[in-house]
Amino acid sequence: GNLDERMIKSEIPELNQLSLSFNRMAESIEGIEQRRRELISDMTHELRTPLTVVRGYLEEMAEGQIQPSDELYNRLIRETRRLERLVNDLQELSKAEAGYLVINPQPLNLRPLLECLVARFGDQLLEDGPVINLDCPSNLPTVFADLDRTEQILVNLLGNAIRYTEIGSITLKVWQNLNFVWVAVIDTGVGISEIDLPHVFERFWRGERSRSRQWGGTGIGLAITKRLVELQGGKIEVESELGKGSIFRFCLPIT
Ligand code: ADP
Repeated sequence: GNLDERMIKSEIPELNQLSLSFNRMAESIEGIEQRRRELISDMTHELRTPLTVVRGYLEEMAEGQIQPSDELYNRLIRETRRLERLVNDLQELSKAEAGYLVINPQPLNLRPLLECLVARFGDQLLEDGPVINLDCPSNLPTVFADLDRTEQILVNLLGNAIRYTEIGSITLKVWQNLNFVWVAVIDTGVGISEIDLPHVFERFWRGERSRSRQWGGTGIGLAITKRLVELQGGKIEVESELGKGSIFRFCLPIT
């Protein structure tokens, strides 16, 4: 409604049109400013926690209240690594949110990329951990997508699937539907509750915070992943059941 209120009515239709577009522009700039403020306030909050932990330990050590120990050093290293990861992720996220991520789409054959990732992730898995399967037709059409960004999407989804699956399997299922190729990352892990599910793509959102923190999560991966999929003209969906597993699937347009 405030668009109409602010509009100065004129006898000249061109002027009305101009005034309308000007107001629209002003509103969209306000929106960008608002999002920037929110991002900075969220970022500050996320960075402060590990910083407080590190400073706290260092001060106590300096004052002789606690003795340096291997455990303490490991704790400090862990928190500093977390800070480093956060800064890297935040840089990607802010680029994505500001629309500065450069997407360089080309005809891309997904199968070799998927085979390569399955091999790479498979090597990292523990012997008693989950196994990774690839279910991909050989006659898949090429998609029009950016290789590096698509790899980033898959690395994020596979990384999560592995992180949140202790036993069982992770399956990469690929199929064509109309003008899109779909990739589903299916795991048999901890799953996500119905209440939590609508929030998984929000930045900084983490399921059961303390547990995720122990697993080194930053809550940024899926927010970036969603942006990367949408920037390439695709969409991403999730289905999950607590204790049973999750399915994250996304699509990319066919060439
Ligand atoms: P994080 O770095 O915490 O993993 P993400 O943005 O990648 O951040 O994911 C956000 C949250 O979504 C995670 O903290 C986790 O609770 C939940 N999540 C993501 N992927 C999975 C999965 N495959 N299985 C269960 N939970 C998941």
